[in-house]
Amino acid sequence: MTLKLQTKTLLALASVMLVLILVITLASLASFRDFSIRAATEQTRTSAEIIRVALTESMLNGTIHQRDSLLKRIGQIDGLDEARVIRGPLVQEQFGDGLSIESITDPTDYQVLSTGKSVYTLVGGYLSAEFRATVPYIASSKGDVNCLNCHAVPEGSVLGALTLTASIKHMRTAALLTIIVLVGATALLSVISLLFLRRLLQPLVTTANEIEQAVRQAKAGDFSVRVQQRSNDEIGAIARHFNSLSEGITTKLSEIRNNVAHLIQSQPLVNGDLLADTANTVSGLVKVAQFKQAIEEDESSEEVFQRISEVIQTEFNFSHYSVYEVDQIKKQINTINVDGIAQAPIKWCNSDITDKCTTCRAMRTGHCIDGTENTLICRSFSNEARQEGKLYLCFPVIQSGGVGSVIQLVLEPNDLKRALIAKPLIESYLREAAPVLQAKSLMASLRESTLNDAMTGLRNRRFLEEYSETLMNQCKRRGTSMTLIMMDLDYFKKVNDTYGHDVGDSILIDLSNIFKAHVRESDLVIRYGGEEFLIILPDTHAEDGFLVAEKIRKAVEAFQFKAGSVLINKTISAGLADYPSDGQAFWQVLKYADVSLYAAKDAGRNQVVRFTPELWISEEKY
Ligand code: GH3
Ligand code: MG
Ligand code: MG
Repeated sequence: MTLKLQTKTLLALASVMLVLILVITLASLASFRDFSIRAATEQTRTSAEIIRVALTESMLNGTIHQRDSLLKRIGQIDGLDEARVIRGPLVQEQFGDGLSIESITDPTDYQVLSTGKSVYTLVGGYLSAEFRATVPYIASSKGDVNCLNCHAVPEGSVLGALTLTASIKHMRTAALLTIIVLVGATALLSVISLLFLRRLLQPLVTTANEIEQAVRQAKAGDFSVRVQQRSNDEIGAIARHFNSLSEGITTKLSEIRNNVAHLIQSQPLVNGDLLADTANTVSGLVKVAQFKQAIEEDESSEEVFQRISEVIQTEFNFSHYSVYEVDQIKKQINTINVDGIAQAPIKWCNSDITDKCTTCRAMRTGHCIDGTENTLICRSFSNEARQEGKLYLCFPVIQSGGVGSVIQLVLEPNDLKRALIAKPLIESYLREAAPVLQAKSLMASLRESTLNDAMTGLRNRRFLEEYSETLMNQCKRRGTSMTLIMMDLDYFKKVNDTYGHDVGDSILIDLSNIFKAHVRESDLVIRYGGEEFLIILPDTHAEDGFLVAEKIRKAVEAFQFKAGSVLINKTISAGLADYPSDGQAFWQVLKYADVSLYAAKDAGRNQVVRFTPELWISEEKY
């Protein structure tokens, strides 16, 4: 049990006072006892001397036989209880035993007679009110009367002893009265001191209690409690300073909290703990700033999406979620990440959102969809998940004025509270991610456009420059060969000259479509130059490649191109080479395909020529 300051102080003072009273009592008792004994000793010594003189006088006057009544009368003197004389052995020897009361009655009598020394003592214990003095009468030849005249005893021998018993009751009563007065005065003083001290401590104790309460509340985030200023002394100053400190903290913290809330665009407060809320939000914002810096330095949108996925898992501790990317041209939704698995199939929505992207409510409306109260708000949320009692929050990420991606959190009912608390911060993350994703996808499409031919939509020579190494490595890794077919329209110049460039262009577009229609998805059709095309057939030997080239040649030959109002026929020539059987380097094989194309032209056009080493006379020729 911990004692309060006031109780402790008062208890300490009360203890000191009690000890003081005890000491005063004991000291008074001891000194009064000492004083009583001294006074009684003096009194009995004097009385003994008077009685000795009286007895000596009786002896001289011959009235010693009346000593009994003398002693009785002396015993009746106020303050004296008894006066008794005992006869020493030498006197008994000379004068006989004497009166019956004059014989030895106790050890003290015996002690005094044998030692010749007086004994002064309290009868019956430390606090007794009876005092006894037993004084010896010593034979002396000196002084006013010569004892040896009558007593046949040696000088200095003990003749007898006188025992006087006196009451010291009156002295004890006086002592007790004095002690009572002293103790009473001390006790009264103690009580007054205690009351005064209590009054003195009261403001200090109350202020301390109030400060303790206020600090307790402040620890729980409530800085609104103020302490009453009760005086103008140091305690009052403590209360005043405490209040102004609390005031300052409240104002500054509220300011910070409001600014921070403004930054994350949410209402201030979550659980009422001003300090903890502010600290949490600030540390959340710091993480958002770090996230922003990280994604700006990321290479691609994929990396940014990966980081968003990590934030959902590690920062917010949600394990069920979907990251969707919206293809605004194709009007499709693709999954980027589901529950931490990249490119996983759709899990938490109906799979038809892929093609009918507007069935995704977040995609369609462009604002956050809260499926925590009514899970039917979006019809595309998986029925299975809905039946399992799962809830959802879907956040659209706005890019280039439209929804570029959607982040969906799938929640268990007991995740709901922390999800709603996390919502503004998640939105902060996504607000930072939006422009970065937009910039990255613009960069990607810009890059894509530099690798494609705008007119035909085919890959261009730049793409080949970047991709040739990969193609070669794939071939090596798989241990297969690939066929390169170089194609060129025969007498194309004539078309331009006769029908104009626009017709020439439309023929080139038709031609690209013919090429695409006759190759596999994995094959590559490249617009290599003006009306020169390169077709790359991976995992294909020259023999099979030749058949493909022939098929294309025939298809072109059979196709009727529109030239204004008339239809015309065109042919192509093709040269074909094989990697790696014709050459170990990609660009070398390409050259051989080109050489073969020239051979086809030389041989009369509209034909496919397979490269043979004889065709390669020297590099200078080409
Ligand atoms: P051949 O190949 O059979 O020797 O004769 P050719 O007339 O086709 O000769 P060449 O290959 O040297 O001529 C290429 C012509 O293709 C020149 C140019 O006017 C035309 N051409 C190149 N690119 C384009 C294009 O993008 N559009 C149009 N309309 N014509 C182009
Ligand atoms: Mg040409
Ligand atoms: Mg040509």
